Amino acid sequence: MNEFDITTIDDARGGRAHLVRTEHVNWVLLQDDSGITLIDGGYPKQVDAVLESIRDIGADPEQIRAALVTHAHVDHIGGLGILAERYGFGVLMDPTEVPHARREILQQATPLDIAKISYRPRVLRWLSGVIRLGVLDKTGIPSSQAFGASRPLDLPGRPVPVAIPGHTDGHSGYLVADGRVLVSGDALITGHGISSTTGPQCLHHAFQHDLDRNRESLLALRDLDADVIFPGHGDVHRGSVSDAVDIALSH
Ligand SMILES: [Zn+2]
Repeated sequence: MNEFDITTIDDARGGRAHLVRTEHVNWVLLQDDSGITLIDGGYPKQVDAVLESIRDIGADPEQIRAALVTHAHVDHIGGLGILAERYGFGVLMDPTEVPHARREILQQATPLDIAKISYRPRVLRWLSGVIRLGVLDKTGIPSSQAFGASRPLDLPGRPVPVAIPGHTDGHSGYLVADGRVLVSGDALITGHGISSTTGPQCLHHAFQHDLDRNRESLLALRDLDADVIFPGHGDVHRGSVSDAVDIALSH
């Protein structure tokens, strides 16, 4: 049985954007006749699941042209280094996020940060799940590079980066499917292993590098026309970004 399910949105040019949702984290596949762009790549132990999801949409991993990263936390870049080397593609992101992905700096919750919230219900159960997926892995991707200046990026699916700093300094979302879908990474999520609610929300502050800046960045998204959100954690959200931001900030 698959450990993921896939939601697909078609664009006007025959391309498709797929949200691959797993229990603990999501990634996105952009597919058109020029190949595949991967956005994020799950935990270190999810390499095989990423490959399976690519085959599941009728594609081949050899078709991956590049991986984009929303931000360089272990649950989003875990398996990308291995895949990039195996299939020979670049791993690209906001210029500010590059030193983070190379692990020259680290803006990630420490074991102490997690210990402080371990009294909360769900945290220990979540932790045992993500330890199995490799959450403690500290490996970076030394070959990480900034994405280019063209908009849209010259990659399958024609993604357009949207800076959403706060969760990490170089966190980036991406508009895909002709701007209809916002890939929101961890700036705006709809569920998480330690959250008791579903629907638009911010990640718990223990996981935020700069919570106030994240909230400020979300306000700037309210002008976007996208009506679907592919979050880094949780289910697909259908509805305006503006409404989703209001709900997330009301918590
Ligand atoms: Zn994160």
